[in-house]
Amino acid sequence: MKYKVLIGLEMHCEISETNTKVFSSAPNEYTDKPNTNIRPVDMAFPGTLPVVNKAAVKKALMASMILHCQQPEYIYFERKNYYYPDLPKGFQITQETKPAPVGIYGKLKFDVNGEEKEVRINNLHLEEDAASADHYGRISKINYNRAGVPLLELVTEPDLHTADEAVAFLETMRSIYQYAGISEADSKKGQIRCDVNVSIMDSNQDETNPANWGTKIEIKNVNSFGGVRDAINYEIERQTDLKENGQYAEMQQHTRRWDEESGTTIFMRSKVDAIDYKYFVEPNIPKIKLDKNWLEQIRQEIPALASERKETYINEYGITNYDATILVKEKAVADFYEETISLGADPKSASNWVTTNLLGSLNKLDLTIKEIALTPAMLVELINLVDTKEISSKQAKEVFAHCLTSGQTPKEVVKEKGLIQMSDTGEIVRIANEVLDEHPDVIEQYKKGRTNVVDFLVGQIMKKTRGTANPTIARSTMAEEIAKR
Ligand code: ADP
Ligand code: MG
Repeated sequence: MKYKVLIGLEMHCEISETNTKVFSSAPNEYTDKPNTNIRPVDMAFPGTLPVVNKAAVKKALMASMILHCQQPEYIYFERKNYYYPDLPKGFQITQETKPAPVGIYGKLKFDVNGEEKEVRINNLHLEEDAASADHYGRISKINYNRAGVPLLELVTEPDLHTADEAVAFLETMRSIYQYAGISEADSKKGQIRCDVNVSIMDSNQDETNPANWGTKIEIKNVNSFGGVRDAINYEIERQTDLKENGQYAEMQQHTRRWDEESGTTIFMRSKVDAIDYKYFVEPNIPKIKLDKNWLEQIRQEIPALASERKETYINEYGITNYDATILVKEKAVADFYEETISLGADPKSASNWVTTNLLGSLNKLDLTIKEIALTPAMLVELINLVDTKEISSKQAKEVFAHCLTSGQTPKEVVKEKGLIQMSDTGEIVRIANEVLDEHPDVIEQYKKGRTNVVDFLVGQIMKKTRGTANPTIARSTMAEEIAKR
């Protein structure tokens, strides 16, 4: 590779796990009904004043600690001044100038295809989200529900080098926000948005010296991880072409936007047109001194994150690293898994069911674990039915598929479908002989020493019983009966 790629991310994530917004008492919850979760402060009515939500500051500080950032002695807020229809105040309350932010100078280790990487965090700051503009042909409507929703912005140093690394970093952050109870971090609800900065430099130059970095191109508002991946790869290709054609040097620093439809980045504005936000300290919110004891208490309250839970699954439950990785990927899945275990399921059986059948079905049906009717208690019941040999594992899959969306319990489904496993030895002996009578040629082969034909014959028993015969009994019976011939 002639060129080295540098990528820095600005990741915005709404804090969804507070009752109210960051500076007002409006509910902080997602709703489809426009302009219902609002208070005069969110609408910028004259004379209204912001009040800082302690819970939002606490969540932000917890994120700051997880990212090994320094927490300042005081935090304070600043005004970022600009006009846009979705910003009725004419400014956004944010934290810009160091040491104002809830976190500065942190780092995060994360895994990229089995390899550990580290990225430095420049800062993490707490701000308010803007309203949203919904466009309907020639008409646009403003929905203020989002105005004032607490937003965490994380700014990395340009320590990432590939689209894979950038996406792995974002996935790790999403997992942290979910496990720490900070945010659902759901891109489908627009809770995560990214600005992606990309440049390329000659490989033989030292990347630790910023003077060697290429020209930073910022891609605004990429709303999905897939979009981040595609935008980075497109931009690497575009910039490489410019280098190869000798046009890179004359390219000015500028901002582009990701166009999902065409799969390209499009010029938005140059550095010369950059907005001067005229930051100044927000006069309506006093500086907040961060009490040492409070900080310590927040640190103690950091819940077990994905990596810690994964260790438990491997060391205490005997789950493979591969399966444990799958189980902890989404917090809701890990929670489901742990509940089946606390209800008495064997950790390995539960892991098999969750990683294969459950996640496979969710994938196929395009559902999330929160959208299904199957509960951990139902899965435990199902596992027990198989363990006590009341149903075969093949039947269990059928029952599972039924319970997944119907809400019926496994026992109900078994009863309704008459799915009791056949363990009646006499009946299986009868069917085994029926099979043997139908296949004299196979008996001949068996006698010539091809004992593996038993597999085929057992298969015939399963076929005749429509999968209800107990496979262990079917196999031993067939072995005995064929020996008698
Ligand atoms: P600005 O002052 O233009 O906002 P910053 O220095 O604050 O720029 O950086 C914003 C983001 O851009 C950070 O995530 C940073 O890591 C990234 N960045 C800075 N320089 C480069 C570069 N040359 N290539 C890629 N990313 C960069
Ligand atoms: Mg900046």
